[in-house]
Amino acid sequence: MSYKASGINPAELGEAVLKRVYGTDKPFMDEPVLALYNIGRKIEHDPNWGLCYVSDVLICNYSCAHCWVSIYARNGILESDFMRKKPQKFVSNFRGKIIHPADTIFDYLEKKSGDVRKKIFAFTGGETLFHRAGLKVMGELAKQAARETGKKIIIGIDTNGWLIAEHKDYLDAWEGLQDVMSLYVSIKGTEPKEFQRFTGVDGRYYDYPFIALERLLKRGFFAIPGGIVLNTFADKHSLEHKINPVTRLHERLSAIHPELPCTISYHAVSMRAHDPKALSRRMKSRGYEKTTPSLVKESLINYFNKQGSPILEHLPENKGIPGIVLKDKTLTEIIASFK
Ligand code: SF4
Repeated sequence: MSYKASGINPAELGEAVLKRVYGTDKPFMDEPVLALYNIGRKIEHDPNWGLCYVSDVLICNYSCAHCWVSIYARNGILESDFMRKKPQKFVSNFRGKIIHPADTIFDYLEKKSGDVRKKIFAFTGGETLFHRAGLKVMGELAKQAARETGKKIIIGIDTNGWLIAEHKDYLDAWEGLQDVMSLYVSIKGTEPKEFQRFTGVDGRYYDYPFIALERLLKRGFFAIPGGIVLNTFADKHSLEHKINPVTRLHERLSAIHPELPCTISYHAVSMRAHDPKALSRRMKSRGYEKTTPSLVKESLINYFNKQGSPILEHLPENKGIPGIVLKDKTLTEIIASFK
């Protein structure tokens, strides 16, 4: 079946924003830097993993209904301009700057987190994968810290997966960093229309997160399907059908590995935004007025249970924190089965 393109072209949008922020013509940044909006929000995480420090990167090639990041990219007021107008949003010692060398960011997070032996430096967005070389350096420094000090630092990466699916060789640069990286790939829909409604991106790319997940797992990276935004993932009407977003999700994840559905992570919409009213309006304009998170959650849990893949409680009711499931046995076994 042919598909008529009608949404954002994520390659074009990504390249336009990347050029504006970094001045590069490449599809992702191969200089060891990161463009940050925010650094080191401290979050209590899994007791086994101590503290998580979350930093927000700039740049995205999607325009998700509930997300502040790409409003600015879509309207032509690109992130760099936005940041110049809102310098007060930076932490004090990063004030007024957008782009930072990755090793400076690592040192900053190391100092901030002090003597904690196990910790997560997580990056969310914005779309993290645009900063390929910067994240690589974060991973290498985490490995170095483990060798020299015995500290266990995990680099958490929250992503829409587009660049990994689009560029077959993307992960080559991260080879050897599997033990210090953990990824959370956002699933934005399970068919073109649903995907485009939520992301604004052309529906032909709806399968990209699944392709990215499979590539990651096959290369030995800890990666979970996440970002199921309950309020937007399905509605009452669509759930009444025999084949619906929940059944399609289960089927697609099972096709990668029969146990993979157990590892999904979901959350309700959170408007961690500078202008929640504008985001609210945008959600409404995309038809998300009557959102029903509990209905979708119930349906997910029940259907996955019925299929013999009960959802693990690694991040119950997660609050948009990048999913770190390093200790998870199921995921370890899934990765091992691909070797
Ligand atoms: S939710 Fe993620 S993929 Fe969607 S616009 Fe925001 S940063 Fe981009």
